[in-house]
Amino acid sequence: MRLRDKTALITGGNSGIGLATAERFVQEGARVAITGRDRKTLDAAAAKLGPNALAIQADLTEDGAAERAIAATIERFGALDVLFLNAGISGSTPVGTTIRADFERIIATNLTAVFFTAQAAAPHLKKGGSIVLNGSVHQVLGIPGASAYAASKGGIGAMNRVLASEFAPRGIRVNSVVPGATRTPIWAARATTPEALAALENGYSRSIPLGHFGEAVDIANAVLFLASDEARHITGTEIVVDGGTIGAP
Ligand code: NDP
Repeated sequence: MRLRDKTALITGGNSGIGLATAERFVQEGARVAITGRDRKTLDAAAAKLGPNALAIQADLTEDGAAERAIAATIERFGALDVLFLNAGISGSTPVGTTIRADFERIIATNLTAVFFTAQAAAPHLKKGGSIVLNGSVHQVLGIPGASAYAASKGGIGAMNRVLASEFAPRGIRVNSVVPGATRTPIWAARATTPEALAALENGYSRSIPLGHFGEAVDIANAVLFLASDEARHITGTEIVVDGGTIGAP
């Protein structure tokens, strides 16, 4: 019970890595608030997580959405101890065909909303509190066709270290997980058929020495460690969970 009596807010907790993390947190004794835009998957996730979960519909790119989600969490559970800033979108187009609206939407979701959610949560976190950001191996690999996504996640890596040093004097830790290719709905969105999805996965797996995608729970276990008191002397760092990924596929 590594999160006994702790309250966590997980953005994007209605799907993929966020939902797997919410499940692990609940198993470890936490009360968990999850956010997402889609009401249907939020309700399904809350039903799966049970009575210690709260589903909050929020588009975190909108002004005031983070503040409302944090207020709802504190109103229901009385505190906020752990924040997993996980919500994100992908997007893959070569430089030549990337349009401004898509580039800005990715930055707004994966970077700007993460910063302002951390900012909104900071006054409510107490000594011993923990923030975990969700980065990506795109931060360093230069995988073709993902400039905006890579830039957004590179920003997460840089921001991780700044937030860690700013919040350290208050006893609040900030770290990041850096997932490699992980089997979640974000991949299904990139392929139009099951065959195309399998081909995409096979292609990527060639650059993963362990030979296959990670599962969402593999990332969740690293988030759990960083969020828990077992990581009490760890701040400003990253845990890479990528099967040893060696380069762009
Ligand atoms: P999913 O698509 O399953 O999850 C993304 C989550 O983000 C959903 O819950 C979605 O909910 C939420 N979300 C998206 N936009 C917004 C928004 N504007 N406001 C609030 N919530 C939003 O994919 P993953 O689980 O794979 O992705 C989770 C994170 O992991 C992302 O940050 C992604 O970049 C990162 N990651 C994933 C990897 C992978 O291979 N799967 C690899 C490296 C990093 P809703 O649609 O209801 O809003």
